[in-house]
Amino acid sequence: MQKFNIIIILILGLLAARSDAPREQLVTLGQAFQNLNTQIREQTLSPDSAQMRFQAILKELREVSEPYRQQICQGDSIGFVFPLRDYDADQIGGSGSGFRPFGFNLFDHSVQGSHPAHDIFIYDRNQDSIDDQTDKPVDVLAMRPGVVVATEANWTPESSYRGGNFVWIYDPCLDGLFYYAHHSQVMVQTGDQVVAGQKIAEVGRTGFNAAKARSGTHLHLMYLQLTPEAVPVPINTYDWLAAATILR
Ligand SMILES: [Zn+2]
Repeated sequence: MQKFNIIIILILGLLAARSDAPREQLVTLGQAFQNLNTQIREQTLSPDSAQMRFQAILKELREVSEPYRQQICQGDSIGFVFPLRDYDADQIGGSGSGFRPFGFNLFDHSVQGSHPAHDIFIYDRNQDSIDDQTDKPVDVLAMRPGVVVATEANWTPESSYRGGNFVWIYDPCLDGLFYYAHHSQVMVQTGDQVVAGQKIAEVGRTGFNAAKARSGTHLHLMYLQLTPEAVPVPINTYDWLAAATILR
């Protein structure tokens, strides 16, 4: 009987270790992804080396996320959730013309001027990151399910870094990366699995340009589709945003 119990305990232990494994691996991969981002930003890695490193990390991420993919992508009729609670596509900067992918290179920080993203503005005339209509912060919601692969939550005004506080989420169903930036607060950590509509942050003014008075308070939203070789290609998310479910 005792032997039997020990076997049961061993099996349970193995099962627990198995289900923990993806999270630990995700955290490790997330750290590699974040280190790579820093190296690209500081230009301590050539663009070619950065791309190779990125592809290796993302291919591994694909494999590690496989259990999540099987769990959450069935039929994939999930759709999209609008990334700001109580807001809609009317608040997208330039009615969608803010998406400028030309010249974008994730791996070469010296190339600037492109904006492969949409900025979604909140009502915040006095720039305190509090919604003028509700007197509350605005929740940033995950548009899709996925796994958090990198975050920054400790941006300071002394930093020249443009993204400020950010969240990167890998969507195993679409096989792409969502990047949400300029938050005042970040609610998730690398390795977390999120569902569509989950609060991941609050809208803020963090980031080198986003903190300046000329900038309206907004969420910067980018989506990078991965090719089979895990090369990131920016996609215009306007249609997704326009069709997204609005949570109130
Ligand atoms: Zn932007």
